[in-house]
Amino acid sequence: MAQKLALVTGAARGIGLATTKLFLQNLWQVAMIDRDAEALSQAASSLDGTMPIVADVSDPDQVDDMVKAVMSKFGRIDAVVNNAGIAEFGPIEQHDFAVWRRVMETNLDGVFLVSQASIPALRESRGAIVNIASISGLRASTLRVAYGTSKAGVIHLTKQQAAELGEYGIRANCVCPGPVRTKLAMAVHTPEIIAAYHDAIPLNRYGSEEEIAQVIFFLCSDKASYVTGQVIASDGGFECTGVGLP
Ligand code: NAD
Repeated sequence: MAQKLALVTGAARGIGLATTKLFLQNLWQVAMIDRDAEALSQAASSLDGTMPIVADVSDPDQVDDMVKAVMSKFGRIDAVVNNAGIAEFGPIEQHDFAVWRRVMETNLDGVFLVSQASIPALRESRGAIVNIASISGLRASTLRVAYGTSKAGVIHLTKQQAAELGEYGIRANCVCPGPVRTKLAMAVHTPEIIAAYHDAIPLNRYGSEEEIAQVIFFLCSDKASYVTGQVIASDGGFECTGVGLP
């Protein structure tokens, strides 16, 4: 059987890099997309079976060119993992509009653009989309007006994709990670937030990049062939308790 191809955005580090490695271990090929050229080339240099492409997921022209480059090299896309994201925290009264726009552009526009550009290829492969949202898109808490709203948008966009693309055999699901010690999280998680997460999470710990990658890979695989439109929290039980955060 021909080798499958996953397109993973935000693949240079964190959850995206762990996901890339898991696909490779399972004998998929991976198109690694990131806007950070240096981090991407460093990450891809030791990984066989990948094609690194520098692109900003919020730029429609770069997204179109990136998908064309993937199709010209591999001729197929079997799974799209919309993982690229940024986090900016701040109180609602002082949240700068430019910051709000920046968060929406990467976290929500990026998911829309990359998915839309990949639809023709996914129709051919009857492939899968997995969008990475967050527990912050499921539950409101302070400081997360832009980030949480963007992720709530990703959750609804996933359901919309599942509803509209199911007739082509395309599945769309969403993973909501709890806290993971990546660069993104550590830039905004104060000691107070870290302590509160430990208290609020039934498993009493942060997750790892690899734990989130396992859920993403399952949803892209044939084992999830009758799963679509689902929102799966991989969060140590945070979502089920209702315990608040600062
Ligand atoms: P990370 O910062 O370690 O990695 C994100 C990657 O995305 C980086 O390599 C970055 O360069 C890339 N990126 C950012 N904006 C981009 C753009 N416009 N175009 C292309 N690439 C871009 O972050 P992470 O923690 O691994 O986050 C991955 C995803 O998981 C994000 O969507 C994030 O919101 C989500 N998430 C993370 C956590 C957590 O605690 N780490 C929790 C919930 C959800």
